[in-house]
Amino acid sequence: MTIEYVLYLISCFYLAYIHVVFKESISKKIFAMFSIWMFSTICLVVSVKIATIVSGVNDIVYNLNLIYLLRECFQILLLLTAYFFISNQYKKVLSKVSNKTIGFMSLYPVFAFLLLINNYTTSIGGLKNLNFTWNMLLLLVFIILGYVFIFAGISSASRIICMQYDMEKLELISRSDPLTGLYNRRFIMEKIESEYINSKKNTKKFSLIIADIDYFKKINDTFGHDCGDHVLKVISNSLKDAVREHDFVSRWGGEEFLFLLPETEIEGAHILVARVKKIIEEQIIEYNGVQVSITMTFGVTESQDYEMIEDIIKKADNALYVGKSRGRNCIILA
Ligand code: GH3
Ligand code: MG
Ligand code: MG
Repeated sequence: MTIEYVLYLISCFYLAYIHVVFKESISKKIFAMFSIWMFSTICLVVSVKIATIVSGVNDIVYNLNLIYLLRECFQILLLLTAYFFISNQYKKVLSKVSNKTIGFMSLYPVFAFLLLINNYTTSIGGLKNLNFTWNMLLLLVFIILGYVFIFAGISSASRIICMQYDMEKLELISRSDPLTGLYNRRFIMEKIESEYINSKKNTKKFSLIIADIDYFKKINDTFGHDCGDHVLKVISNSLKDAVREHDFVSRWGGEEFLFLLPETEIEGAHILVARVKKIIEEQIIEYNGVQVSITMTFGVTESQDYEMIEDIIKKADNALYVGKSRGRNCIILA
């Protein structure tokens, strides 16, 4: 009788355990709860078998107390093992699966649990039947295999999701400049090449702008390299924010930036670059109590169908050079 109360107490303890350990949604809690109950039924089967061997009497009613005792010991052991060795991985896998999927998956342990109970209650009348334990064990093997398949499925799916995530991260790293977060030279070259092909097909021109910070060396020399880095980051953000969504801004070199404006003629590029120039020269950048402001010189050009990519880039570069020789802080169209 006392032992029965202990059993109820332990069931409450199970519910509390799931509630505390699994902070996920209700469906995930149900899934975890039935999983644990199912495994606790395995403990019962094993306890029945051990109690029979220990007492030497093949009578469940006679062995009842011993069975309860063994079962509770196994269950506590199981809970501790689950808590220390399984729950983290289990939670990790659960976190990868949507609530809806878990809802469907919960049906498996629920049915398996009901099947076990059904088998247990229908077999209890035939306790004398020696096959009872083996029937239960067979059923359990079936259930556990199901579990293994579900888990193998989920974990391989989650591994694929992780791999996809890693690949996206790698792709992002491979195309961006680490200091400024802008596109790097390699990526922008690829973009120029594809835009070049597009412009041949749709006969629409694209524009290129090469911009260079004026007297940047002076900033490094006066305020230090860290300040120079900070200025580069702030300027990069401003450039990125100033262009339209379908334009590309890249870090072309140290303090040089290349803009690719798809399907934009030089007049449009000029309007955009005038806006960018104004934003940059009006911006005051603060770093460790010092205020820095900079200007930029811009070389702007548009693609012509007879030109090669290298020629178009060279044209923008030459325009920038002209701008520098004319005193900087200006826009030169080529
Ligand atoms: P100009 O107006 O003719 O462009 O003068 P400038 O001083 O900007 O040009 P110069 O080519 O003489 O110097 C560029 C400087 O940019 C030198 C280099 O140390 C600095 N620089 C290049 N990359 C970085 C960087 O990542 N961080 C910092 N802090 N400085 C950089
Ligand atoms: Mg410069
Ligand atoms: Mg330069």
